[in-house]
Amino acid sequence: MRKRRKIARFHSSTLLHTYLPQIAGRKQAILGIDINRLGKHMVAFNIPLSLPPDLLHLAKNYTHLSDKVLPELHRGLLSKRKAGDAHGCCKLLGELNRLYTRRSRLLRELTRLLPHFLAAVMMKKQCKKLKVEQLTVDPTGTKGALAKAIYTMPDSLFIYKKAVRLASQELGYDVQLESVLPYHTSTLHYGCGGTLVRGRNQYDVAPCKKCGQKVNTHSNAAQNIASLPGTLLPPL
Ligand SMILES: [Zn+2]
Repeated sequence: MRKRRKIARFHSSTLLHTYLPQIAGRKQAILGIDINRLGKHMVAFNIPLSLPPDLLHLAKNYTHLSDKVLPELHRGLLSKRKAGDAHGCCKLLGELNRLYTRRSRLLRELTRLLPHFLAAVMMKKQCKKLKVEQLTVDPTGTKGALAKAIYTMPDSLFIYKKAVRLASQELGYDVQLESVLPYHTSTLHYGCGGTLVRGRNQYDVAPCKKCGQKVNTHSNAAQNIASLPGTLLPPL
């Protein structure tokens, strides 16, 4: 029994250590995180940081299935139905089923890896506190599949709690996890107080009404989250 636990710990720390070399080593006591649509901004930090290739690859495959492959198959199914092609319909339904399963596996793998990457970031930055947004509304509309996956888990903060536990084990002290109420985190320009006005195609970057600066809305939100007072959460 004891041996088994040792192996499990070894594995979780192995994965964490594969991410370490990809992260710059500057210290950051408080880390803030904002979750967004799948892609390079899906996990935004209050400091400049790129996501690792394996996470980006999973997100890219997910998005490709969602935006291209699945809609095409649905259109094909519709035309086969119109043509009364029962056999063709059956074949396409099978294919759709298979791809939906594949897509949910991609997301599951992403949420499995994420705590290890987050833990690696906390370790490298010698982080003392991780702050996340407390999402009370259905996040499907703007925040996307990853937010939905995270916040609809039985313990919606499981990923963060796991990340904090892994990081604490490695760092030798308890990293604290705090949740912050989402108070204008995406529209308030951090450090300026102006309002960010998103245009039609301005999802990632928006100009500030007050200072005119073009702001990355995701890292700006993470900066707001890191600076707002939070509620301390119990450890996993
Ligand atoms: Zn501004």
